[in-house]
Amino acid sequence: MSEFYPWLEAKNLSGGIDIIDETSQCIRTRVDGRAEGFTNPVDQVRRHGRFVSGFLHELGVALPVVCGVVFCNANSIIGKVNARDVLVFQITGLRYKLDQLYSQFQQPVITEEQLLFIADKFIARRKLDSWRPKYDKSKLRVGVLCRHCHHRSRMEYRYGSWFCPRCGNKDDRAFYEALYDYRLLWGEEISKSEFCEFTRIESKKTAYRLLTGLKLETVGANRNRKYKIPPNIKQMSNKK
Ligand SMILES: [Zn+2]
Repeated sequence: MSEFYPWLEAKNLSGGIDIIDETSQCIRTRVDGRAEGFTNPVDQVRRHGRFVSGFLHELGVALPVVCGVVFCNANSIIGKVNARDVLVFQITGLRYKLDQLYSQFQQPVITEEQLLFIADKFIARRKLDSWRPKYDKSKLRVGVLCRHCHHRSRMEYRYGSWFCPRCGNKDDRAFYEALYDYRLLWGEEISKSEFCEFTRIESKKTAYRLLTGLKLETVGANRNRKYKIPPNIKQMSNKK
């Protein structure tokens, strides 16, 4: 049975913390007196709380949502806080705060079955985003890179092999590694011209031969054809 829905946001900030509702600011003052601003966690938890309330309302559940910001760092000192609708406290006070809430909300609103039903709905709503790192693409070293040269040298395709002009190393596995990196950094599909640009292979014929030699699944036809780089591309070098 549930009486309320606690929606807590944990923050690991040290130093003096002031939260000023009028200006929507969260100011942290370090021991040396330097002050810096942060995204206001009170606004954040309010936004999330509103979302949860709205979602519960859609499900026809009138469960009160109680929002709170919990500071978990033992070195944080909560100073001025003038938000009335959101609880702001140190982690050490969690049990006390929950006890207070249990005495405030004594009337069970939903059964355990309903709670599980809500949990299922929440999980179903979750959209998993595949994580993509943020970086400046123009600064990336592209191509088939030589492992001997700690990936500092770009290999060239000569007479059917990948060859490092710097150390003379021949390494066909580096090609598969490069495609693996391409998949992570640029995308799961590669066209012939993208492949030429990435590997610096000038001959379209060679590029076509190398790409089709991988026997990858393709999408689109002719000029728009894209080759799908599988997640296990690195292991494919063993099959050669
Ligand atoms: Zn090398």
